[in-house]
Amino acid sequence: MINRDRLVKEFIELISIDSLTLKERNMADTLKNKLEGMGLEVYEDDAGKKVRGNCGNIIGSKKGNKNAPGILLMAHMDTVVPCIGKKPQIHGNIIKTDGTTILGGDDVAGIVCILEALRVIGEENEQHGDIQVAFTIAEEGGLLGAKNLDYGNISAKYCFVLDDGGEIGRVAVTAPSQNKLDIVVKGKAAHAGVEPEKGISAISIAADAISKMKLGRIDEETTANIGIISGGNATNIVCDRVELKAEARSRCPKKLEEQTLHMKQRFMDAADSWKGQVEFHEELVYPSFKINETDEIVSVLKKAAQNAGLKLVLEATGGGSDTNIVNSKGIQAVDISVGMDKVHSVEEQIKIDDLVKAAGFLVEIIKSVEK
Ligand SMILES: [Zn+2]
Repeated sequence: MINRDRLVKEFIELISIDSLTLKERNMADTLKNKLEGMGLEVYEDDAGKKVRGNCGNIIGSKKGNKNAPGILLMAHMDTVVPCIGKKPQIHGNIIKTDGTTILGGDDVAGIVCILEALRVIGEENEQHGDIQVAFTIAEEGGLLGAKNLDYGNISAKYCFVLDDGGEIGRVAVTAPSQNKLDIVVKGKAAHAGVEPEKGISAISIAADAISKMKLGRIDEETTANIGIISGGNATNIVCDRVELKAEARSRCPKKLEEQTLHMKQRFMDAADSWKGQVEFHEELVYPSFKINETDEIVSVLKKAAQNAGLKLVLEATGGGSDTNIVNSKGIQAVDISVGMDKVHSVEEQIKIDDLVKAAGFLVEIIKSVEK
């Protein structure tokens, strides 16, 4: 039922469009035309204006022909760099690039699965409830499209995001929240050769703090990392300022709070003992979510996987996605694997068989949503 050639052709077509974060206009216009061509009612929201992108999210609606809860199908239009002038190549069952850019299967794979599934349910006159589609902007830039989507116009009860990797049948049902941490450590400058004792080294304060900090994998659901550290002007000056960028994640909100506080406390203690100062700024980038085994959306997935002949694997992910945002808006959402592999690297690739399987799984999901 899935048209393999049509699916691959559309994948190559969309991969060939440059679609940088906040510059998704060409992709958005192409997708708008495709959805309209399939008879969906389509509009572009004003998310782009809010985040200074060159287009908004594309939202399409298809009326149902049976009495069942509405669903939202979601994939993002932007890709990470390097992505200009992508040249996809087909090697048997594998699609990859010439090695100079990413492939952009993240998330064109999700987009083509949605388009193909919509076509197939139309061609085969399948029974389904109301379907809405959201192709979002700037997922890679901090989930900005999903954050600024107009949820007042979304009537769906369940949301299926197609933006994950791994075997087809894997579905992320829980993901962490993330705190972004900006830290400024202040010491005091002095001539490093003439009177170093009059200075306070911000580098020493930061080093002291970090050496006593729990980082990396904290526990099964919590991680933390100092990603960027910068400061200093010359070897003959005691460094008076260091800036650090860090993060903490956890699927448990309480543990996230504890880890963030722990990191803050180590900086404060180090500043105290060296008589320097610390500014610590934290910001929640996205909230965590957790779908329970007993939730109805899982029953839909179980039935669909069985009909598609797939092994359903409910998993926890360590990353954030549009799924986190949709869940926080009161719509149950899960993130489905479309087989993308080695994403965010020039070695990114995808198996055609996986694309076909993922599209087939989505068709079964649409059919499995019952009253
Ligand atoms: Zn993605």
